Formats: sequence, C-alpha cells, structure tokens
Amino acid sequence: MAACTSVVAQPTAVHGLDVAGIDRAIAPGDDFFGYANGLWLESATIPADRSSWGPAGELTELTAQRTAQLIRQAAASPAGSEARKVSDYYASFMDEAAIEKLGLKPLEPGLKQIDGISDRAALARAFGKTLRADVDVLNATSLHTANLFGLWVAQDLDDPSRYSPFLLQGGLGMPDRDYYLDPSPSMEQVRSSYRAHIAALLALARLSEPQARAARIFALEQRIARAHSTREQSEQVVAGNNHWRRAEFTQRAPGLDWTAFFDAAGLAAQQEFVVWQPGAVTAMSALVAAEPLERWKDYLRFRLIDATSDYLPHAFAAERFEFHEHVLSGTPAIAVRWKRAVEETNAALGETVGKLYVARYFPPAEKVRAEAMVRNLVAAFAQRLDRLEWMAPATREKAKAKLAALKVGVGYPDKWRDYSGLEVIAGDAFGNAERAKLFEYRRNLAKLGHPVDRGEWVMNPQLVNAVNLPAMNALNFPAAILQPPYFEPGREPVMDYGAIGATMGHEISHSFDDQGALFDASGRLKNWWTPQDLAHFRAAGSRLADQFDHYQPYPGVHVHGKQTLSENIADVAGLSVAYDGWRLTLGGKPAAGAGGFSGEQLFFLSFAQSWRQKIREPALRQRIVADGHAPDEYRADTVRNLDAWYGAFGVRPGQKLYLAPAERVRVW
Ligand SMILES: [Zn+2]
Repeated sequence: MAACTSVVAQPTAVHGLDVAGIDRAIAPGDDFFGYANGLWLESATIPADRSSWGPAGELTELTAQRTAQLIRQAAASPAGSEARKVSDYYASFMDEAAIEKLGLKPLEPGLKQIDGISDRAALARAFGKTLRADVDVLNATSLHTANLFGLWVAQDLDDPSRYSPFLLQGGLGMPDRDYYLDPSPSMEQVRSSYRAHIAALLALARLSEPQARAARIFALEQRIARAHSTREQSEQVVAGNNHWRRAEFTQRAPGLDWTAFFDAAGLAAQQEFVVWQPGAVTAMSALVAAEPLERWKDYLRFRLIDATSDYLPHAFAAERFEFHEHVLSGTPAIAVRWKRAVEETNAALGETVGKLYVARYFPPAEKVRAEAMVRNLVAAFAQRLDRLEWMAPATREKAKAKLAALKVGVGYPDKWRDYSGLEVIAGDAFGNAERAKLFEYRRNLAKLGHPVDRGEWVMNPQLVNAVNLPAMNALNFPAAILQPPYFEPGREPVMDYGAIGATMGHEISHSFDDQGALFDASGRLKNWWTPQDLAHFRAAGSRLADQFDHYQPYPGVHVHGKQTLSENIADVAGLSVAYDGWRLTLGGKPAAGAGGFSGEQLFFLSFAQSWRQKIREPALRQRIVADGHAPDEYRADTVRNLDAWYGAFGVRPGQKLYLAPAERVRVW
C-alpha cells in the first residue's frame, strides 16, 4: 500500500492538522469525532488487506516497508550473526516454492505424536508440550490462547521481588466464549463458518471424515467455552491472584494428569503458580478426563494445523485467513507475502529487527525530545495530584511516591535481548517458527527464580503502540509511534500534546486506573487508599462505565463500560494531563491559534484526529466482545469530560455530547 503512506509524509495543513478532513456541517457538541474526521471518513478507504484504517494503520504500513527493507539488507551480514538470522528467517518464509514443495511433510512429526497418544498421561503430556508464553494479563492484556492453557511469567503480585508463572484458561479457536454461546444470529453465522473452517483444514491435511470430526471438535470447544470465565471477570485482578501450590492442583482441579502436564511443560520443579481463572481451570481439567480420548486427539490435530497454517502451503494459509481474518474481522484480501513475512519475523526476532530499525529511523534527538515530553507530563500529573480536593493527604503521598517510582522507557530498551540460543535454519520456515515460539517460552521460564528486571520491554521498538506495565510500574513508548502524525519535529507543541501527549498521559495514567491503582509503588497488590478516597474513586469509575455503556454502534450492541473501564479512565486522565502539560509549555502566555482555530481547538482536534479510524463491522463487533478498549470513535468523544473542551467549541446544554459539570468524570 505504498500510496497510503504519502498521507503521513505530506500533512495537508496547519501544523499537521488535516483541515480538509473536518466536517463543518457537524456540530462539535453533537459528534466531535464526526466533526474532526467527517470528510476524511467519507473519502478514506480501508485497504483490502486490513480490517481498519487510520493513522496507526498508515504508520504500521510505513514501518513495515522500512522494516522489510532493513531485513532484506541484512542478508549481506555474516552467517551466524544476529542480523543474518533475521534475514534468514524472513527469506525462509518468503520462499513459497520450497514451502509448496514440502507440502504436508512439516506436519507429519506432530501428527504422528498425536496418533501415538494412548492414555490420559500421554494426553496430559501433549497439552504440557504445547504450553507457550502467549498470554499477558496486565501489560498487553492479551487473554486469548488457542492452546488448552496459556502461561504468563511476570512479577508476583504479592511479592514484587520475584517472578511467578501465571496459568490462564485457553483452548478456544475463536476469540472469546461469547462466540460459542451468544445466541444472536450474527454469532450463529460465525459458528457455522468456524465449523466449516475446521472441516476444511482437516480435509487439506487429508484426514478422514473431516465433517464428522469438525462437529465433534466444535462441540468440545463449546464445552470449553462454557467453562471459561468472561472477559470482564478475567480482568478482575484481585479475583485472579490465586496462588496454588503445585501439590494442590490434583485436589482442586482433578482430571488432568498435572504431573505429566507440568513435566512436559518444563515446569516440574516449580512449586507455586498463580491460577488466574480457577473455576475454568477446574472445569477444563474435569473435561480432559471426561471427554473421549479420540475426541481430544482430533482436537489436538486441528490445533496443530490451525496454528501452523501460515507456514504450510498456500491453501492452508488461505483457509486460515478466510476464517480468522475475513469472517472474524471482515478483511477482504490476505496481505501480500512480504508483509506477513515482516510480521512473522517481528514475532520471532523482534528486538533484533528493532535494533536495526532504531539505528536507521529513530534519531537520538527524537528520543531526547520524547523523554522531555514524558517528564513534563509526569510533572503535570504531580500537579494534578496536588490539586485534587477530594483526596486525603495520606493517599496523595502514596500516589506521588508511585508516580516518582515510574520507570519510563522511550524508543527501545536499554538492554537488548539475546537471541544467540535461537537456531534459524535457512529454508526451514516451519521449523524456525516452532523453534522461535519454544525459544520465547524457555526465555520466560528462565526468569523464574531470578530477580525481576524492570527494564525489560514487552513491545518491539518497531510497533506502533505504547504500553503500561502496571505491576512493574513501568512504561514502554516504542520508537515507531514516536513519529508523524503523532509526534513531529518542528511543529507547534500543541499538536504533539493533543496526539502523542494524550497517549503518553494515557500510559502514565494506567498506573492509576481502576487496576493500576490496586498496586503500590513497588508493584505489590496492596490497598494504599483511605476508605473514603477509594469510595470516591470507585464512584467516578462507575459513572464513566455508565457513560460508555450508553454508546451503541449497532442496534442492540453496546460498548461494555466495565470491560473497557481501565482504558477509559486512562483516556480521561491522560487527556487531562496532556492538556495541563501543554499549558505548562506556554509558561503563562496565551495559546497561539493557527488556520482559524484557537490553540485550545487545535489541541482537541489533534486528539480527535489521532483517533480517527474506519473499521469493518466484524472487526468492530469483535472489538466489543473481546477487547479492553472501546471503539476509537468513543475514545475521541471522551473530550466531553473536560471543561476546557466546552469553552473551546461553545458546547451547549441539549447537544448530544453535552454533560452537565457534575456529570463530567474527573478521575484524576
Ligand atoms: Zn491503555
């Protein structure tokens, strides 16, 4: 999509604000997202290989092109070097002819192992062998794995000095239990596509009776779905923090042969675990014992094929795309191979690619500038704490200590990951992918028993995103998000503060959202609030949840205020902090306007344009069911909680976004 990136390279107007995209026929007070982006929404088209489009998508495209070029250039690096591994990994994936020629061969060893499962202990070992470090409760908030369980190795929530292994529910091929259980016609349709997808993959792998097997596999997954906790329940930190001794598993969750499972997972010596959804683990363990062995073996066969389809001949990748991207997200066309190769290489050797990326595309001056901006925002947050009338001095002091301890990472980690233990074999795309996942899993297991490293990053530098690590009280701002249109050298600070400033404020605020606020400065899950302050904070959160419950993108489909509460708190607080941070840069002078807009208007427009997005219906529906973030349109409309927005655009009572001062949510 080379043409699309020109939008990024050539901002159309004032300080990078897309004036031509504003729809002046819409009143800002009725629909601020529509006002800021209406004409852009009319003219923009979502590229065929994407489920949504906006500045983040544009930057992702640009970054992928740059990254692909760097990876190809790395082919000239000496054999065995890290850079060469990157290029070998990429080139092996790109060699479609070789992959077609191998056909089903790469699947054979895995399928043979499954054939050989003759009892429940062997079944448990098979599950243990597939355990991977593929979930994350608090940082990336990725709660889904198609493996029976997922592992997350992270700072223990009771004892921040050590790591613990967190065990999460998994086992579903679709994104959430709702996809299996929601009786609505649209979900029923997805289910029938999924059954067809299972059968199609089994047929491609030349397994007999694909339809009958697919029906049984689907029925089994539906039973797993019934055992699952909901997304909202899984986001409850206190409810998830259950320490189980290794010896307790058999008694608390009988069924699965836990000794065989942990042994095969490389966790035989581990004495304590955090079981995030104990009810689900108990029910799923019982299911492992209750369901016929043959049914589980079919289930494992399908899991193996579905998970590795991208590394098999085109027919497999196309079938996987058809369900997972087309049906579930509405994306019409599979991405060209080089884009997928970049993604796969990023997943396998992310920080090596990141090292190449920042050396070429992240100037040291931009790192310095971004760090200064974060410092200014932290100072603005501290000032807000001082001004909070409702907060008792004791709570305020704890909050300030936590803010002071925040560890901010900008651009890339101080210390790069070591991939020397990962073997990349030129020409073995399938094997490389398997080894990379296993390498990542073992890297995580190796943390157990060692001191917690707060400098570790959970995002690649070449990712257009940012993250707060609540238990580690740390932030990652990857290099790839620190570029236009979010962050642009030489333009008026107001635009940067409205865009990347609000994102930085958002990530800082996550340390103080309804989940982050449960952790003290050291990352211990510990209440540091006076009862009155906590009650006030919770009341504000519940009003914000109500506000978001009212947004309805489709008739009968509404945003889940509780499921998205942490993100929505971080948005309101982050935007408030960005606004204050911008005012601090003015040093008391009035804000200069431009292009017919006041400084205040530029700030809010920059914010709303940074959230502009066109999204396909299935992708939006999936987001509502399975994501902790509200749709971007409503995130932009959170301006309605800030007093300054009302003055900037003359918003009056009776307009759709108008909130009386007492209804505006001020969390921080
Ligand atoms: Zn967030």
